[in-house]
Amino acid sequence: MKRRDPRCSSGKTEPYVYDGYRLRCPSCQYSFLPLPVEPAFDMRVVPALIPCSFEQIKNRLKKFKAEFPARYRSEGRSRRRIRVLLASEVVKLRGLMIRPAKVKAA
Ligand SMILES: [Zn+2]
Repeated sequence: MKRRDPRCSSGKTEPYVYDGYRLRCPSCQYSFLPLPVEPAFDMRVVPALIPCSFEQIKNRLKKFKAEFPARYRSEGRSRRRIRVLLASEVVKLRGLMIRPAKVKAA
């Protein structure tokens, strides 16, 4: 993605580098969050969205570890980590969990 950064000190048009979270200028390190952002869901609500049990999701995420990198948000003063799934990951999981009924051959 190429965009002229009005706050860039280099005065050049640098291609921004996406680090998976923000777009960053390689020369001045100015970064911004590209909007709109993809919605993310707490693991506490994901079972309701699929729908399936919490254990089933946990097993699937373990099995397809490479496809679903773990992301966390922290909650409370103890900074308890709560796993978060992106909307696209919820859709992928749903595709793994929900299958159409087999059509019987006539
Ligand atoms: Zn810059």
